[in-house]
Amino acid sequence: GLLPEGARIDRMLAEAHAHAARHHEGRVADYIPVLAAADPEAFGLCVVGVDGVRHEVGQTATRFSIQSISKAFVYALVVDHLGHGRVREVVGVNNTGLAFNSLIAIELHDGHPRNPMVNAGAIATTALMPGADPDAQWEAVREGLSRFAGRPLAVDDEVYRSESETNQRNRAIGQLVHSYGRIERRPADVVDVYTRQCALSVDTVDLAVMAATLADGGVNPVTGERVVSAEACRDTLAVLATSGLYETSGDWMFEIGLPGKSGVAGGLITVAPGKVGMASYAPRLDAAGNSVRGQIAAAYLSRVLGLNIFASA
Ligand code: GLU
Repeated sequence: GLLPEGARIDRMLAEAHAHAARHHEGRVADYIPVLAAADPEAFGLCVVGVDGVRHEVGQTATRFSIQSISKAFVYALVVDHLGHGRVREVVGVNNTGLAFNSLIAIELHDGHPRNPMVNAGAIATTALMPGADPDAQWEAVREGLSRFAGRPLAVDDEVYRSESETNQRNRAIGQLVHSYGRIERRPADVVDVYTRQCALSVDTVDLAVMAATLADGGVNPVTGERVVSAEACRDTLAVLATSGLYETSGDWMFEIGLPGKSGVAGGLITVAPGKVGMASYAPRLDAAGNSVRGQIAAAYLSRVLGLNIFASA
C-alpha cells in the first residue's frame, strides 16, 4: 500500500498532532484584520493518499481562508492552459529571497515577478487565467479550485471585504508590475480577482484533497476527475519546491524534503508526488508567514512515513 494500514497511520497522525500541539510560539496574522480573530489553538491535520483514502485528526472541519495556498492551484490551471514555456517567461520560477509582498524584489528585476508564489507573481499569474472579463476569470478560478477540492468552494465574504479594504500594498504591486508591461489586464481588476481567490473558504480536508490531486499527477483521487495535466502538475510542484514557503523555502526543503505551500491564515499543504497529499490548519505563524505547528507536523510525518524525496534509504 501507499500509506501504512489504517491503525498505524492513524497513530502516526495522532503523534504528529500531539507533538506539534506542544508548540505555542508564533503569531496569528493580523495585517488582514479579520484573520486576527482566528482561534490560535485550532489545529487540524489530514492526509489523503493517491488512492483517495483519507485519515484525519483534530479540527479538520474548521473553515479558514485559503490565502496564498490558492497560488499553487491557480498556477497549475494557468500552466495547464498556456503551457510550460509561456508562463515561465512571464512569471518566472526562481525564489526572490525576499518577503512575499516585497516591492524591492520587483524593482530588482525590471518588474519581473520572479516566481508565482510571491504576490507579484501570483497577481501576474491570475492575470493569465482564461476569461473575457474579470467575472469570467474569477469564475474560472473558483471553478478550477473547486475541481481540485472535489466540492464547490465559495468566498468568505468577511475575509474578502476585510482584505479589500486593507490591500493597498497588493494594489501597488499590481500597478507596479503593470507599469513594466507584465500584466495585460487592468491591474485593479486582477488584484480584485486575486483577493477573492485568497478569500476562498476551505477546511483541512479540502486542502488535503487538493494536495492529493497534485500528488496524483492532476487527477483528483476522490472524484476521479482529471483537473490539470500531469505536466502542469509537475511544473507546479517544482515551483513549490523552490518557493512554496516564501523566503524560508530552503529551511523547509532541508527539514521536510517535499514540495509544500503555506498561507497566512494558517493553512499548509505538503505533497509527496505519487503518494500522498497532506494538509494542516494551525494559525500561529513564524516570521516568514508559515504555520509553526504545520511545519512541525509535516516534518514529523515526512520522517515517519519515509517521504523525503532526497532520502535514499
Ligand atoms: N491574500 C494574502 C496577501 O495577498 C495572501 C498572503 C499569503 O497567504 O501569504 O497578502
